[in-house]
Amino acid sequence: IDNRCFYFDEIKSTNAFMLEHAAEVESGDICVSEYQSAGRGRRGRKWFSPYGHHMYASLFWRLNRDIARTSGLSLVVGCSIVQALQDLGVEGLGVKWPNDIYLDHKKLAGILIELSHHSDTQTELVIGFGVNMSMSAAQGELIDQPWSDLSATGHMPDKTMLLVKLHRQLKRDLVLFEQQGLEAFLQRWNDNDLFINREITLLMAPNAVTGICRGIDKQGAVLLENEQGIQAFVGGEISLRAS
Ligand code: ATP
Repeated sequence: IDNRCFYFDEIKSTNAFMLEHAAEVESGDICVSEYQSAGRGRRGRKWFSPYGHHMYASLFWRLNRDIARTSGLSLVVGCSIVQALQDLGVEGLGVKWPNDIYLDHKKLAGILIELSHHSDTQTELVIGFGVNMSMSAAQGELIDQPWSDLSATGHMPDKTMLLVKLHRQLKRDLVLFEQQGLEAFLQRWNDNDLFINREITLLMAPNAVTGICRGIDKQGAVLLENEQGIQAFVGGEISLRAS
């Protein structure tokens, strides 16, 4: 099926646009903007989205799975974005559970998946992603954690090429996820996981738990090993940090 691309110079949020137009769009349609005045992250956080050379996009997708079987989807999207970038020659990429993409241990891209609608057989989602392409030092000062951009790799892809690659790879991987579930991605995730076999802390306000990261399970939960044995943790309120 051919897909449509809704292109904006400026928008509040590409995810918000897709959610507002969910009734009129098809699976695989995408929204792209040069600037987001209110780019979103998880739990009300913001995705800094200045003008310049960056990618802010949202894909609409109807997943042939009920909501209970979509857990781990952010990991699928992470693997997919990493794959697309690696195919373009970018090296030094890694993933951080559950939804971040790092380059040389600094945050390169973010993913925000929002639910549009669900039934017993289908889940409508908006999958947003932001990729830093060429951030100026002045822009970068406004980001409150270590960041990176594609210009640092010496492999700066053409923006249209990047979008086409990401779009194709995401569609391919979402179909694979529909057919085979997260199991098809476990190896890919673990191969790129920056924290596997390293000591991490999971922040779950007001609590925190520390242990050795042992990758993910079939549900997309992060596995943590400590005196209590290996435990699986899952949930949108958790943040992972190096210990
Ligand atoms: P964290 O990455 O701290 O674990 P998170 O996964 O909950 O947080 P996201 O929704 O992925 O958060 O991203 C939002 C966070 O990413 C912001 O709070 C900010 O620290 C950082 N951030 C915002 N914009 C950018 C950007 N353009 N590049 C890199 N990092 C950014």
